Order: sequence, then structure tokens, then C-alpha cells
Amino acid sequence: MRARRGDGASVCASVCASVARGGGAAREAREALGDEDDARERGDAGRLGARVPRGANARTVRCARVRCSAMRASASVAVARGAGDAKTRMRCARKGEKKKVPPKKFRHSSTHRRRRRRHHRRAISFVAHSCSPSFVMSRTLALFDVDGTLTVPRKEADDVMKAFMRALKTKVTVGIVGGSDLVKISEQLGEGAEKEYDYLFAENGLVAFKHGELLAKQSLKAFLGEDKLKTFLNFVLHYVADLDIPIKRGTFIEFRAGMLNVSPIGRNCSQEERDEFERFDKEAGVRAKMVEVLREKFADYGLTYSIGGQISFDVFPQGWDKTYCLQFVEKDFDVIHFFGDKTYKGGNDHEIFESEKTIGHTVTSPEDTRKQVTEHILDKL
Ligand SMILES: [Mg+2]
Repeated sequence: MRARRGDGASVCASVCASVARGGGAAREAREALGDEDDARERGDAGRLGARVPRGANARTVRCARVRCSAMRASASVAVARGAGDAKTRMRCARKGEKKKVPPKKFRHSSTHRRRRRRHHRRAISFVAHSCSPSFVMSRTLALFDVDGTLTVPRKEADDVMKAFMRALKTKVTVGIVGGSDLVKISEQLGEGAEKEYDYLFAENGLVAFKHGELLAKQSLKAFLGEDKLKTFLNFVLHYVADLDIPIKRGTFIEFRAGMLNVSPIGRNCSQEERDEFERFDKEAGVRAKMVEVLREKFADYGLTYSIGGQISFDVFPQGWDKTYCLQFVEKDFDVIHFFGDKTYKGGNDHEIFESEKTIGHTVTSPEDTRKQVTEHILDKL
């Protein structure tokens, strides 16, 4: 079969290159392209000589034509897809030289392409969202101690603090962690406090609530066992009975779900008596000495002692301090700010204040808490 004269001359430079690579007998080339000498005589010599090298044959020219059409198809697909500028189209064309455009049945379906575009849009949207202030807010938790931080010790939170916390809740997630049980925390922060705040951790988180739903509850009774518990309680009651302090009232031990609260003066004292004992204890160190004795006597019980509030100290298993509550929130938040007043060593906020999972802030009063929250959280949103 003879190829028509001019076919070889009409292919583009890249196709000619592939013809050149194809090689072959001179005779076949002349059959395919006609007589080169005739062409030169007609004035096509320069063009023909430049584009169809010696050695081309009919088969390689036919292959070149197929490749050329594949390149054009590939380029047109690229253009149809919006491949962009001429350089991109040329790149697509060169790619097409090596690889044929797949038949339509092997191409991605329009549904697939639509899904892929939607996936890309969502990915871009997520990256943009993750840098937005609203996303940063949703990954920040402001966690508060109660006594001395949100309220004056054992007093109810005032209206200013309640309004401040309501406003704060609209900006970041808010949690409460107190050593007291739910009844006492509700007396201070208002009835239904477990529903009011995103998280409420009573007894250091041993009784944990999220949006009013009970998450978990731990038991000291199960941890120690009845025998050890009875031995410990007997010793504490004997120790308190032998204490020589100005006044004593009732309820020296309060048994809570996850801890014991021990008070040398007794929890039934009035507010004036509380204040008086706190002043006395600062001088006499009654609670500190009692904790030292218990720590030595029951060293093998695995207990921790924490002096908090004005008149008592807490006893609970090691690791059941305020850091216990972090297990419920650490995976959901990138930043956890903790605000507490007793952050010194031996204070009931010390462990969570020192924890590497939190950014700790020491406050001196409810007013100071508002000031520091504004400075460390609200001003940075
Ligand atoms: Mg406190």
C-alpha cells in the first residue's frame, strides 16, 4: 500500500521524531512517501528533508499517524478538562505520545469525577475551617475549681460571676471540677449545675457529668475494701478524739463516693467558726500534722491527702486527684486552661495545675478569675 504524498510532510515534528526512531528500509520509505527526488524537484525538498528523515518506512509512518491522532485526542481532552495554558496542553500532548487515550468505557465516570471534586472542596473547606476562630474556640476548654476560684469558699457564686460564666459559655467549652460532692457544688453554683455547664466533675471527677448526663462514678469502698476502710476510719476518729483544739463540732468524717473528707473541727460548724479555725490552723498546722501521721501510718494503702477549703482535707486513692477528670476531656480538646486557687504543693489544685495536659493559672479570688480568663482566653479569640 502506498501512502499518499504529503502525509509525512503534514505530521508534526514530534511525530517525525518517532518516525526517525522507527527506522526501516529506504525502499519502503520511498514507497510510503513517494519518490524523494520527485518531491525535491517539486520544491518540497527542504520541507520533506527536514521532516521525514531517511530510513522511514510505510509502517512507521502509519504508526506515527496513529500516535499523532492519539496526541491530539489527549490534548483535546486536557483542554476540555480545563487543563489551562499552552504549556500544560503540550505536556498532555507529549504524555499522549507514549500512552493512548483510554477508551471511554475505561475513563472515570462523571459521578466519580463529581465525587472527587466534592471531596476536594470539603478538604479545602476543612483546612480553612480548622484555622478559623470558631474551630479554635471549639477545641478550647476552660476548667474551673469552685471554692476560692468561682466563689468565696463555701459561699454561693454571685450574680456577676454567674453572668460572666454564661457569657463565657458562648465562647468556649466550660467545665467545673470541685472536690465537693454534687449537692454542695449545686448549692454554690445553682440548682442543676450539672446541666448548666458543659462538664461538671464532682469529687475531682469521680462523679462526672457531661451536659447533665452521668459519664462515670468511682467508688472508694470498692477500691479499699471494708477491712482497710474500717481500720482507717477507726484510726482517724481516735486521732480527732485526742486532738486538743479550741472548738469541735459534729461530722468529722464525710464519706463520699470516691473520697473521705476529714475535718478536725467537724463540718457542722458555723461560718464564723470556720473562719476562726482557718486562722488557727494557719498557725498550729493541725491539718498538715494529721496528714503527715496518716501518710506514714497508712503508707501501703495507696492513698493521697489533699488540704483544701478552710476546715478539712480529702483522702482518696493515688491518681484520684483533680487530674482524674482530665481523662474525660483530654481527647476532645487541644487546649485546656485550668484556673484554681490552691495550686501550691499540698493544695488540692496542685496536681492538675502542674499537669502537662493543662495550662495552669493561679487565681486569688473570683474577681481575679474573671480578670485572668479575659486576659488568657477572651482577649485571644
Ligand atoms: Mg479551691
